Amino acid sequence: MRRRHRLAARGSRCPPPAARQAGRSAVIGSTQAFERTLVVAPHPDDEVLGAGGTMAALTQAGCSVFVAVVTTGKAPDFDMRQVTTVREECARAHEKLGVRETLWLDQPAARLSEVAHVELNAALSGVVDAVRPGALVLPFVGDIHMDHQLTFLSGLVAARPHGPKFPPLVLAYETLSETNWNAPYLSPSFQPNYFVDISSTIDLKLDAMAAFSSQVRSFPHERSIEALEALAVMRGVTVGCAAAEAFVLLRNVINFELA
Ligand SMILES: [Zn+2]
Repeated sequence: MRRRHRLAARGSRCPPPAARQAGRSAVIGSTQAFERTLVVAPHPDDEVLGAGGTMAALTQAGCSVFVAVVTTGKAPDFDMRQVTTVREECARAHEKLGVRETLWLDQPAARLSEVAHVELNAALSGVVDAVRPGALVLPFVGDIHMDHQLTFLSGLVAARPHGPKFPPLVLAYETLSETNWNAPYLSPSFQPNYFVDISSTIDLKLDAMAAFSSQVRSFPHERSIEALEALAVMRGVTVGCAAAEAFVLLRNVINFELA
């Protein structure tokens, strides 16, 4: 089913600072917010499933992409050899995507509900304070995995607009094998209203996911390469392009200011 997507690279480019250099008004927000992007992954591979194509497009455009992986598998719940394997897979995937830095928050996987909310808030706030992202990309609150829900909630706390610096753009991504497996009408449903054309980076996304060989499943499992490609195509044709990633827009602040 794999095929090469060969559309002209026309993804969003980080706007040059020419406007600011010329002393004209600069528009802060929207695509310019992506210059420093922080993608938050409850578990390693969520960020690739949800935003891998966007991450690749951004790094190719010269933007800095950071990933915060919230949890780590701990014994006895997880085999530590497997944990090491996944971390190595994650490093290879992030290298393919051009990730600038991967930050490990080392919270207990599948046990985030046992961590005091204040602690998770502090961990994510620390990352946001350190990275100072213009764009913050979170998992979706309606995902079936509680680690995803709690990461979303603490991510929003970390992004609260009450300081001098806060992310003007906040998005939530969808995660195959999590987002679609929730309870219809009981959990919030993923209704995307923000799309990124990944026609030029879909192959990189699929290659990055393939690097997680211990996590990928055989088709027709939802966490298969084929399903990931199918979703990208479906999200793409929804907005008239060959492949896309879809998000829920949570906040977008536009601020006109003189340089
Ligand atoms: Zn996950």
